[in-house]
Amino acid sequence: MKYHTLFFDLDGTLFDYKKAEKIALQDTFKSFFTFPQPEDIFSVYHMINAACWEDYEKGIIDNRTLRRRRFAELFEHYHLEGDPEAFSTRYLENLSLGGWTLPGAGELLEKLQGNFRMAALTNGIGDVQKSRISRSGLEDFFEVVVISDIAGCAKPDRRIFEYTMEKMGITSPRGVLMIGDSLSSDITGGINAGLDTCWFNPGHKPSGSLDPTYTVASFDELYLLLTDKGGVL
Ligand SMILES: [Mg+2]
Repeated sequence: MKYHTLFFDLDGTLFDYKKAEKIALQDTFKSFFTFPQPEDIFSVYHMINAACWEDYEKGIIDNRTLRRRRFAELFEHYHLEGDPEAFSTRYLENLSLGGWTLPGAGELLEKLQGNFRMAALTNGIGDVQKSRISRSGLEDFFEVVVISDIAGCAKPDRRIFEYTMEKMGITSPRGVLMIGDSLSSDITGGINAGLDTCWFNPGHKPSGSLDPTYTVASFDELYLLLTDKGGVL
């Protein structure tokens, strides 16, 4: 199968989301509390946040609830006194500043540019993602950038993939490859929409019952795969 179009997930695939959220959480904590942040706050936050995102991706909660609930639960966990809503607002302001990319992401897109049509599909909050994307330096590589909050549906909902194809004037999923690090949103979603999928799995995690078309552990591996499958590089 040759591919003419690549759909990229951003966070954890091309963007260093861990760094962005770590710095945002750290800075927000500092401005709300005078005592040092608990040592395990990132791992606790990750657990809470992952559970909230899972509910969001399943459509159980909306993103407004997600924004508040993750900090309400964090406050509860550490018995912190304060307003989770205000903390969330400041956190998102700080997060908006975090446009760091993973090492090699820009170089990869540069090599792919001109050989594939490329779009970004990201689950996230409109203003936050827009700001991060414009700071990343990667925006111009994408013909279309779709943010779930603005599109009105989130991966793995097939409609967000169809919406992206429609925006690009693509009528068939054939020849489109979805590349992302999340099995639950990118790979499940890609499969739902009838696309071939490439799981970006640098952590060598098990794929469980899902069956991505390809799995790669690095940008080099992805580039080699596309060279082979694209046939145009
Ligand atoms: Mg991701």
